[in-house]
Amino acid sequence: MNERYDIAIIGSGPAGLSAALNAKIRNKKFIIFGSKEISNKLVKAHKINNYLGFYGKSGAEIRDEFAKHLKAMEIEITEEKINNIYSMGDYFALMVNDKMYEATSIILATGVNFGRPFKGEEEFLGKGVGYCATCDAPLYKDKVVTIIAYNKHEEAEANFIASIASKVYYIPMYKEKVEVDSSIEIVNDTLVEIVGENSVKKLVLKNREIETDGLFILRDSISPGQLVPGLKINENHVEVDRLMRTNIEGCFAAGDIVGAPYQYIKAAGEGNIAALSAVTYLDKIKKNSKEEK
Ligand code: FAD
Repeated sequence: MNERYDIAIIGSGPAGLSAALNAKIRNKKFIIFGSKEISNKLVKAHKINNYLGFYGKSGAEIRDEFAKHLKAMEIEITEEKINNIYSMGDYFALMVNDKMYEATSIILATGVNFGRPFKGEEEFLGKGVGYCATCDAPLYKDKVVTIIAYNKHEEAEANFIASIASKVYYIPMYKEKVEVDSSIEIVNDTLVEIVGENSVKKLVLKNREIETDGLFILRDSISPGQLVPGLKINENHVEVDRLMRTNIEGCFAAGDIVGAPYQYIKAAGEGNIAALSAVTYLDKIKKNSKEEK
């Protein structure tokens, strides 16, 4: 049987970390998923002047301060990317490829994706377009696969697919040096349109075309509606009330995912509220089950 957590926090930016601190202080059994690098967006900031107590520090310096804080409170980030979350009634099932985690409540803190979907992305979603290469890898045995990757750590996914597919094209959307398996063709170009009939057939890039059976778009965060089926979304953001409660009982959300202003301190504050609301929810469940006995 799977271990069941009181709270699963998805995302290790300021919102998720702040939720984790409060879950720890409230003595809850929790797990936080994300990256040991904490948040790509945090690191990218040149200078942050609007986060209380860190005047003039760079994003990387604040990241280091956050990391120290986590270490002092013995909080470990679990480096997994959650692909799907299903509400099972009295708990949530969190899927990571073929692994599953269980939690009574969840806090979504996965940030926001800027930019529109590619032309054809929504039309061919599930028909050749996917967001999790390792989950759908078996579908592409001996086929041609293209990966658009927004983060260097996706190189591992590309290498894995290369061991199954007949050919892999890799379009990096990041600046770091690309270090993928030598069988993978690196394409430094920009996708303009995904073309097909019943499923994806080719990709039109700015400077060339690629015939492909599958396309994986590996962004830093999956859109919340796809992550949690049934979640109420309003103009690309998760709808929440002042207690950071979503329309699904036991599911809370905080940070950029719930809307502008996109700011560190707002994200951290909302993470705090979400954790306290999750604690109240857990206490209510406990009380109800005692009364039933
Ligand atoms: P994020 O920081 O985006 O963190 C989301 C986390 O979730 C990431 O760790 C990601 O890896 C993880 N994640 C996503 N999906 C999954 C999944 N499926 N499974 C597991 N983990 C997942 N704000 C300011 O207040 N001041 C500034 O000066 C400032 N400068 C900025 C400069 C730049 C260049 C940028 C890009 C942003 C800046 N911001 C600034 C905005 C700020 O970065 C965001 O508001 C803040 O990071 C939001 O925090 P968050 O926790 O909601 O999300």
